[in-house]
Amino acid sequence: MNVIFLGPPGAGKGTHAQKISQEFSIPQISTGDILRQAIKDGTEVGLKAKEYMDAGKLVPDSVVIAIAEQRLKADDCKKGYILDGFPRTVAQAEALDKIADIDFVVDIDVDDEVIVKRLSGRRVCPDCQTVYHVDFEGYSPICAKCGGNVIQRKDDNEDTIRERLSVYAQQTAPLIDYYKKAGKLIVVDGAKPVSEVFADVKKAFEA
Ligand code: ADP
Ligand code: AMP
Repeated sequence: MNVIFLGPPGAGKGTHAQKISQEFSIPQISTGDILRQAIKDGTEVGLKAKEYMDAGKLVPDSVVIAIAEQRLKADDCKKGYILDGFPRTVAQAEALDKIADIDFVVDIDVDDEVIVKRLSGRRVCPDCQTVYHVDFEGYSPICAKCGGNVIQRKDDNEDTIRERLSVYAQQTAPLIDYYKKAGKLIVVDGAKPVSEVFADVKKAFEA
């Protein structure tokens, strides 16, 4: 099963992709995680991507499409995968259509003001990419999964969050229509608690 998680930054794509990945034993492919790793490793791609990411802009299509094309060739994608944060432009979606057969697209829908609150309190483990929120019960700055020290992402500050929301509205939201026309879109209300959103996402998966 090949699935795309669509939705604004902070909608819960990563949170639910991680859970689905575990339960269905298919990889979560996050272009954001791949780019952050490239920055850490100091690669050419990382050097190109950093200024865009820090400013809340999209990394150029050519760079991101090449990353996705390469990742989707890996053996672990043969049983299926969840694309988290890719595609983010119509050009990326068209490139993906040439190399993949997408079964359906889950659009996690959440209002902007909820997102600003969610992303301001988001913390992530830089070692295993587990996602947390400071308001969650039992939140600890030590990753419950791997013991790493969780961090706040550089782009999770209010100004950059608002820029990312505006970029989403202009460049990514047109994909909702793109996949609706293709008959692949399933919309899930992302404002509910994680357990309820997860149940709705799973229903979409099992349909
Ligand atoms: P995305 O991958 O779409 O950018 P994340 O999965 O990283 O979003 O979630 C953003 C923040 O919101 C994280 O701190 C996460 O713990 C929190 N979060 C995700 N889903 C929910 C939800 N349904 N209710 C409350 N907080 C949530
Ligand atoms: P994310 O981890 O999905 O929130 O992505 C973080 C940042 O990485 C984005 O704000 C972009 O700068 C960049 N990025 C991730 N995925 C893409 C993509 N598909 N197209 C362009 N830029 C991307």
